Amino acid sequence: MPPARSSAPTAVPVRAITEAAAVDGLLCWCRAGFEPDLAAELTERAAQAGLHGHARANRGDGYVLFIGDPRLDGALPCNRLVFARQSLRLLAELRGLDPRDRATPIVEAVAALRPDAGYGALLVEHPDSDAGKPLSALARSFGNALRPALRRHGLLAAQERPSALRLHVCFVAGDHVLLAESDPARSAPWPMGVPRLRLHRDAPSRSALKLEEALLVLLDEAQRREHLRPGMRAADLGAAPGGWTWVLVRHGLHVTAIDNGPLRPHLFDSGLVEHLRADGFRWQPPRPLDWMVCDMVEQPSRVARRMGQWLREGWCRHTIFNLKLPMKKRWLETQRSLAMFEEQAGIPLAVRARQLYHDREEITVQASPRATA
Ligand code: SAM
Repeated sequence: MPPARSSAPTAVPVRAITEAAAVDGLLCWCRAGFEPDLAAELTERAAQAGLHGHARANRGDGYVLFIGDPRLDGALPCNRLVFARQSLRLLAELRGLDPRDRATPIVEAVAALRPDAGYGALLVEHPDSDAGKPLSALARSFGNALRPALRRHGLLAAQERPSALRLHVCFVAGDHVLLAESDPARSAPWPMGVPRLRLHRDAPSRSALKLEEALLVLLDEAQRREHLRPGMRAADLGAAPGGWTWVLVRHGLHVTAIDNGPLRPHLFDSGLVEHLRADGFRWQPPRPLDWMVCDMVEQPSRVARRMGQWLREGWCRHTIFNLKLPMKKRWLETQRSLAMFEEQAGIPLAVRARQLYHDREEITVQASPRATA
């Protein structure tokens, strides 16, 4: 890389980027082991959008490439995908990078493919997988080295610009990089699509992180302000030991916690929690609630039907619930259960579903009647 002689951008000699390196399609991060489910989802959604493409996925990799039409990124935004934590527009695949100078071919590729992109930020990422996690130190130090090089060539803004396109340099091995870009308006804001949340020491269970993440990922800022206000009322079905109830109480909601199991005693200090030992599939509220959340471990179709009934009867205005997916064909089961949920509800709904970072063999669904979404 030539040293900068002045503050004017330096032209890059474009030679390393070959036609073989440039690729159109999507790069999606996911939970390791769920690549076949994400591949099935992308294949089906692309076909529905009338766009061609094919998935390149290996179980355990923590990502799926969906190679095909350049319009895929616009047609399948991240917030419509269930099994992707993040979805990026793929630009190029660079293999066989020399560890002594990985930066030069990357700068050359960016200059060749996106000379005028003027990226607002650089994210250096790696898969959340057994093979990917050891790359985190490399990713961190490489980012610090690459930023000034990109800036020298006018490819990256001098200061971060939060609304401008972002460049993603994704290491899948020490010598193998996927180049991608994202529009912050249509993709997850967090590196690798994972919001960094810390378990609070007062949280009754790790499950608290699931609901915290759901509120962050499945609602936007305006919805959180509007729909989560002190004094609102909620039910938590399958509440014990109380992680989800604790999250709702921290937002100032009154919570009826339904579970035959015990809740952590300190939850009652707030004066906002009532515990009922009842069956979450039979209990119904005496008057309509603002929220119903549900983390009962049950067959997804049974949960989906009951959740649909809650919305049909107007027992709650908004819901967040988990669908446990211990089976093999999780995308198929997801579609079936969501269809069953909407059919039972029988009213137009705004629905978002996602396998969150804190979800294991499950997905989380947020739904509200369209009129109140
Ligand atoms: N969300 C909870 C938290 O944050 O601490 C964890 C819930 S745990 C995964 C599932 C709970 O659902 C268990 O405590 C279990 O007793 C409860 N459960 C399962 N079936 C139920 C039912 N039919 N009615 C009420 N609770 C049920």
